[in-house]
Amino acid sequence: MSIIDLIRQDLRDMRPYQSARSLVNDADLFLDANECQGNGKPELCRYPKQQPEELIKLASQYYQCETDQLLATRGSDEGIDLLLRLFVQAYKDKILIFKPTFGMYEVAARIQGAGIDVVDTAPDFYVDINRMRDATTREHKLVFLCSPNNPTGTTIPKKDIALLCEAMLDKAIVVVDEAYQEFSDKESAVSLVDTYDNLVVLRTLSKAFGLAGLRVGFMIASSALINYARVLLAPYPLPTPSIDNAIDALSACSIKDMHVRVDSVKEQRELMYSTLSQLDCVEKVYQSAGNFLLLKSSLDLYTHLLRDGIVARRQAIGSDDDNYLRITISTPEENARVVSSLAEVEVCYD
Ligand code: PMP
Repeated sequence: MSIIDLIRQDLRDMRPYQSARSLVNDADLFLDANECQGNGKPELCRYPKQQPEELIKLASQYYQCETDQLLATRGSDEGIDLLLRLFVQAYKDKILIFKPTFGMYEVAARIQGAGIDVVDTAPDFYVDINRMRDATTREHKLVFLCSPNNPTGTTIPKKDIALLCEAMLDKAIVVVDEAYQEFSDKESAVSLVDTYDNLVVLRTLSKAFGLAGLRVGFMIASSALINYARVLLAPYPLPTPSIDNAIDALSACSIKDMHVRVDSVKEQRELMYSTLSQLDCVEKVYQSAGNFLLLKSSLDLYTHLLRDGIVARRQAIGSDDDNYLRITISTPEENARVVSSLAEVEVCYD
C-alpha cells in the first residue's frame, strides 16, 4: 500500500492539462495559446506558469522543504478543495474533523459529497490525538487538523501529529492546516513530510504576511502526492500580479519585516488577553497561538460591538446560552477601540 492507493481510483491514471509551451525549452516565438498583445501591459498579456519556478524556489526555502514537495495554490482554501477532490469518492468516503475548527473543511467536504465525522475537543478545546486516532475508520480518507486552530487558538504538538500519521500510514491522509503558524511558538509539522508520505501541510500568505488579497497558499507533502494534486490544479491558477507580489513577499528582507509585524501582533495579543480577561462582561478569554482571541460571555457582545461599528466573528460553540466571539488582533489603535467598546458593556450591565 502507498498513498497512491488512497487516491480516487478514477484519477490515478489521469494526465494533467498541458500547455504547448510547457513541452519545449528553446522556442522564442509563442503562438500556441491564443493570447493578444498590444494592450500596453506586456507583463499581463501572457498566461502565467502553473508553478512559477522563482516563487516555488523562494517558498521552498521559507518553508524548508524541497521544491518538488510544494504546490502553489489559490490560498489554502484551494488546497483543502484539491485534497477532497483527489482522495474522496463522493457518497462513499468520509473525512474526520474535530470541533470547533475552521468551517471550510466541512463546506468543501459537502461540495465533494464526502461524509463528515466529528470528534469533540476536550475541555479548553484541547485536541486529544488518541481520540482522533480511535475515531478513524477505513471510510475516512482525510483527517483535518488545524494548528493553531481557528477559532480556538489551540495548537497540536508535533509529536501528536507524528503519532497520528504513523497510526494512519496507508490508511488515511493527515492534513495539518498551519495558516496561523507564524504567530505560534510551536514547531511546524513541515519537517515530518520527509518521514510520512500521508502528511500534507497547508500554509498561506494570507495571515502573517498580510496578503489575503493575493490569494496565494501552499500545499507541502511528498513529491508523489504533490504530482497528483498538480494534475487537478487549473493550468494557470495564480494571476501574474499575485505571483509577482508573492515573490516580493518571500524575499529575505520582506520575511524579516513580516517577523517584526508578527512580533508586534503577539505582543498585542498578550496585552488584549490580559485586558479583556479583566472585563466583567467577559467570562473567559482563551489563550491563543493565532492572531485572534476567542472570548466566552453570557452577553451578546457581538451585537454590542456591531453597534459601535466593529464586526467580530460569532462562533456556534456550546449551548445556545453561551456566546462565543472570535476577535482578530489588530493595531494598538484598533484593539483599543474594541476594549473601550467592551468596557461600556460593563457600565450598561452593572
Ligand atoms: N485555514 C484556516 C485555518 C483559516 O482560518 C483560513 C482563512 N480564514 C484558511 C485556511 C484559508 O486561507 P487562505 O486565505 O489561504 O485561503
